[in-house]
Amino acid sequence: MNPIIDLRSDTLTQPTPAMRDAMARAPLGDDGYGEDPTVNALQDKVAALLGFEAALFMPTGTQANLCAILAHCGRGDEYIVGQQAHCYRWEGGGAAMLGGVQPQPLEHEADGRIGLAGIADAVKPPGDHCPTSRLLALENTLGGKVLPEPYLDAACALAAQQGLSTHLDGARLFNAAVYEAQTLGLTPLAQARRIAGHFDSVAVCFSKGLGAPAGSALCGSAAFIARARRLRRTLGGTMRQTGVLAAAALFALDHHVSRLAEDHRLAQRLHAGLAGLDGLHVEAPMTNVLFLELRGGHADKTPQLIDHLRQRSVWVSGQYRLRLVTHMDVDASSAERVVGAFREFLDA
Ligand SMILES: *Cc1c(COP(=O)(O)O)cnc(C)c1O
Repeated sequence: MNPIIDLRSDTLTQPTPAMRDAMARAPLGDDGYGEDPTVNALQDKVAALLGFEAALFMPTGTQANLCAILAHCGRGDEYIVGQQAHCYRWEGGGAAMLGGVQPQPLEHEADGRIGLAGIADAVKPPGDHCPTSRLLALENTLGGKVLPEPYLDAACALAAQQGLSTHLDGARLFNAAVYEAQTLGLTPLAQARRIAGHFDSVAVCFSKGLGAPAGSALCGSAAFIARARRLRRTLGGTMRQTGVLAAAALFALDHHVSRLAEDHRLAQRLHAGLAGLDGLHVEAPMTNVLFLELRGGHADKTPQLIDHLRQRSVWVSGQYRLRLVTHMDVDASSAERVVGAFREFLDA
């Protein structure tokens, strides 16, 4: 049996021996009292890195986004957000369910942007009738797509002009930064800081491509993070000797950012191999996420394809479209096996 190539998500990575070692050695305290030195070090580091006054360690990206929306908005307010955004579609409607904050979803352009005219039109007029538009929430990368920085700049300027705060769901911010850093001649961390600098608050995940077992961080002004800290407590997200997880995140920031370029290269190799196959449409990836669709005679055989791949120890995700996500636990030499398994199905 071949070793499993698990391309379902970049959340599937195992902590490396060096990361486990850093976790084992981390000094710990009770973060409920603000006394975990490793958590405090991580929060200080992330805030400084991304150019914010403060940061807060969070158990998940979902809770980071929820605390952010609830810290920006009150009951009866609304946030403007993309139809495909994680904090609209994939987080159980938490802002509406727990905070009485209504989403105003907007369609995306093909490249992942939501149009500026659409954002301006969606802002509600003052008066007795409408919810109060309070926040613009963007996501970068979105489905692996990097939103161009001039767009982020213009969208955040528009938001400021309309009196909206801005939040970035940057679960994969470092993938976007690595992609852009190459062409700009900047370091990935410097580019991450530039992207983050457009927003009032930013959430990043350590549990995706950065390879930590858990954890996210929310960044913002000191006053904003103080509100988020209260909300985290209310939502049951305040943990204790959680420096054991923060140590993994610190390790990931020090060692796993630049290597995201390898994941992006592997996605390119997969694209190069798969795009040549008849009956398969493959979107060119910008970062580590690849979307595919069966076309022609095979169009309705997605479940059979997923089955076929799984029998050959290639695991992919196919809830709506087929999705392949590269990450640090997928060897670069796997590309040939993956492409071969697809070819075998399409040739049959
Ligand atoms: C994974 C993800 C999150 C948060 O996920 P958790 O599983 O709650 O950590 C948020 N936004 C985006 C874009 C994500 O990909």
